[in-house]
Amino acid sequence: MFPAMIVCIDYFDSINKDFTITSGDDSKHLTNSKHYIGLAFDVRSRELSDIEKFNFRIYFTERLDNCFYFLQESDHFHIQYDESVSETPWP
Ligand SMILES: [Zn+2]
Repeated sequence: MFPAMIVCIDYFDSINKDFTITSGDDSKHLTNSKHYIGLAFDVRSRELSDIEKFNFRIYFTERLDNCFYFLQESDHFHIQYDESVSETPWP
């Protein structure tokens, strides 16, 4: 998850907004959630305008390959690593 976290921090830095992880492997998630095995985290989105949210997705997908999954939810972004998509094992 480290590269994804760096990209998120860089983006929030670039627009001068606070970066807040609202959930890692804690709190309640769906059964089988990647949160429970440390392969997902949530980022608070309320600081961002609509255009900043839109740009965040672009920024994220341009910098990471598609084994990193990006989902915009109502009040956060869900970021997840899916090893089945990647051919390179996570170091
Ligand atoms: Zn999540």
